[in-house]
Amino acid sequence: MNHYHHILIAIDFSAQGHHVALKAKQLADQLNAKLHIIHVLDNIPMPDTPYGLVIPLDEDSSYELLETEKNKLKQISDELDIEPACRWLIWGEPQQEITQLAAQQQIDLIVVGSHGRHGWAALMGSTAKDVLYHAGCDVLAVHLPEF
Ligand code: AMP
Repeated sequence: MNHYHHILIAIDFSAQGHHVALKAKQLADQLNAKLHIIHVLDNIPMPDTPYGLVIPLDEDSSYELLETEKNKLKQISDELDIEPACRWLIWGEPQQEITQLAAQQQIDLIVVGSHGRHGWAALMGSTAKDVLYHAGCDVLAVHLPEF
């Protein structure tokens, strides 16, 4: 059986995101696979110009937020020794951007966190479930204990 060669971590920078990242790193090291990481900006207004970065609405706070997210991605990527070309900060809807990038980069395993929610929360859906449904490759859902 072929093992995984390209593993993509989907990170949301929640308190438990680090746990997901460490699991993926451990697996990648064991399999000698290449690690990629993505964070989807779903809470910052998107620049909508073909000529460069123009931050609409509240310019200062959007810019600050973007810098904060960039730094967080850099910090975790440096810690996990992920090469710069494999770090992705993308505007959009998490499930869509994660599965699209996975297809483009020939990822064979996506690693996400899953709260294993039940009842009402499960009915409302989760990113992990949506990624699993739409991905064209395997998905590892790392169980996240509720804090
Ligand atoms: P959630 O359904 O929001 O609890 O998220 C479940 C998992 O989906 C997280 O542990 C991450 O692995 C992934 N995820 C959620 N939001 C994002 C995001 N904005 N960017 C990248 N991955 C995300």
